[in-house]
Amino acid sequence: MSSTVYVAYTGGTIGMSRTADGYAPERGLLERVLRGMPELHGGQVPEFVIRDYADLKDSADLSPADWNAIGEDIAANYDDHAGFVILHGTDTMAYTASALSFVLEGLAKPVIFTGSQIPIGELRNDARNNLVTALMLAASGQVPEVCLYFNGLLLRGNRSTKVHAVGFDAFTSPNYPALGDIGIDMDIHGEHLRPPPTGPFRFAASSTEPVAALRIFPGITGDVIRNIAKPPLRGLVLEAYGVGNAPSHDPDFLAALREASARGVVIVDVTQCIRGSVDLTSYAAGVRLAGAGVISGFDMTVEAALGKLLYLLGRGGSAADIARAMQQDLRGELTRPPPPFARHQRPDRPAADASA
Ligand code: ASP
Repeated sequence: MSSTVYVAYTGGTIGMSRTADGYAPERGLLERVLRGMPELHGGQVPEFVIRDYADLKDSADLSPADWNAIGEDIAANYDDHAGFVILHGTDTMAYTASALSFVLEGLAKPVIFTGSQIPIGELRNDARNNLVTALMLAASGQVPEVCLYFNGLLLRGNRSTKVHAVGFDAFTSPNYPALGDIGIDMDIHGEHLRPPPTGPFRFAASSTEPVAALRIFPGITGDVIRNIAKPPLRGLVLEAYGVGNAPSHDPDFLAALREASARGVVIVDVTQCIRGSVDLTSYAAGVRLAGAGVISGFDMTVEAALGKLLYLLGRGGSAADIARAMQQDLRGELTRPPPPFARHQRPDRPAADASA
């Protein structure tokens, strides 16, 4: 079995250099810098091959078609390597890592996303440490899932989110513990890892059909929903208040949601709070949303909900099938609380599971 690591540079700050127009990705830079680091060649760090993608992009320019290209690349090289490091811009790294966790079915090898806030060729950069640690994690075989490593934290990819625009501590995993804390020791928390896959490895392409995410805000109207949800939109992630609430006394707003879900648009409710889970049984406002066809995304990040929607759309099936699968834990991306939430259960209020 091979012990080498396959490194793919997709673009992003880590491999950028200064140009007349500001920082831009430079082909060959990472390989040059890495080959010139003696500490990488003393046997402590695994052997690796590094490939720059033909079209290096700022991650703000990536789309689901690019997620599929990364997935295909991993699948094409899967048998030849012990693990994979995907070097990626930080801006949409959590989206790509989330999406890849779904499309790489039966994954049994580490896929570690990383990047940096300061390019590898600059002084005081965070790129070298992130990259060297990612290489070691990818070779270790200890974390056979899609992860994001950044600044000492190893996170489940589909639980991660970018929380700092400029700090080295750019990522967190608000609703799930870190899979590892990397300091003097590389401390992997085995109890938080996924169980080994039951099926064979397979790349299952995401759909590239239109979906959207929309943050609920005071004053939102039914027409805003109608405009965004019009055909050909297939799915909508609603970033709602608190435990999943949205306006409930505006009949036109609810009617617009009902019309969209009746047309087969899968509408998933997640919370715009950084922590916690949706519970559409808690408040009248949530119960009305569920009545309009909105389903609970529990504690999924927006990034995970979008990636999962596109993966399920790619697999096919009816809107009802997709809605059902959206509410199940497929890759450790959500925790379904036992219904109903104990903290909201009052003796005078019978339990109801609006998510089932
Ligand atoms: N704009 C860059 C990107 O996401 C930011 C970064 O890599 O940190 O590609």
